[in-house]
Amino acid sequence: MWRDRDTLQIGIDSRRAVALTGMAGAAWLISLLDGSRDRAQVIQAAEDHGIPSETAERVLALLAMAGALDDFPAATLRLLPTPLRARLAAELATVSLAHRDGDGGARTLARRLAGQVRIHGRGRVAAAIASLLAASGLGRVTHTDGAAKEAAAPQETMRAGQVPGIAALPDLAILVGRHPPELRAGLMQDRVPHLAVSADEAIGVVGPLVVPGRTACLKCLDLTRTDRDPAWPLILAQLTGREPDPTACDAPLAAAVAAQAAAQVLAFIDRAAAAEAVVNGTLELVLPGWQWRRRTWPPHGDCSCGSHAAR
Ligand SMILES: [Zn+2]
Repeated sequence: MWRDRDTLQIGIDSRRAVALTGMAGAAWLISLLDGSRDRAQVIQAAEDHGIPSETAERVLALLAMAGALDDFPAATLRLLPTPLRARLAAELATVSLAHRDGDGGARTLARRLAGQVRIHGRGRVAAAIASLLAASGLGRVTHTDGAAKEAAAPQETMRAGQVPGIAALPDLAILVGRHPPELRAGLMQDRVPHLAVSADEAIGVVGPLVVPGRTACLKCLDLTRTDRDPAWPLILAQLTGREPDPTACDAPLAAAVAAQAAAQVLAFIDRAAAAEAVVNGTLELVLPGWQWRRRTWPPHGDCSCGSHAAR
């Protein structure tokens, strides 16, 4: 949009928008920036149109300085089938704006396409997380039953009948609802980062994200709970192998928890440090409230996971 003859505004919301002055006469040049030309081709096209190359260079420099130019690497572009790019356009636009990488989301896309996530758990929260992650461009999303969700990159599709337990270790495991103690022990032993997710008793909980040996593990949380409630181990023992029926998790809570979990998984896959909201902590939504709140869970000194010493 033009604020006046000389000032171009890119974006609407003041938290994202930038205003650039000295842009008089640059409208046609800017219309060339639709992703179909590389830098040299833009400057050549401008010259053919009677715009001096110095002017084109200056406009491009102004846009780049303002962080308004997405320069998607041509090499990455060539590797991406057009339908896949079209399907992931909204994801790329979002990461590009949110992080201002200046590469049109190319680096994030590469990480996601290489990413492998395994979901343990049943029910609509687990199903919704799987579908959100597949839609976000995750290379491989598998479920405990071995069913492969639609994969972003066809070559990453899991072979039918492949058992997740013996497949390569995922980058991240997601534990939805109650899960057997052997599962978390196995993940700790294999050093697989894992995210706990639950939605029951009209409370949604996303976290902690456990990086084995480095951040508070699920046992750390149980030890902290025991410090506060000496009867916790007894209660925990009675929960093993029992599923709530029905689960007190309505459709909006399931959707909210799945969305929060998927966002934290993507933060971890996109840039590991960005998932800090669920490291040594949980995000919790207690109905009828509407606000997610963070609860801190520090590594426990008596836990054998070693995260306490790693602090
Ligand atoms: Zn621990």
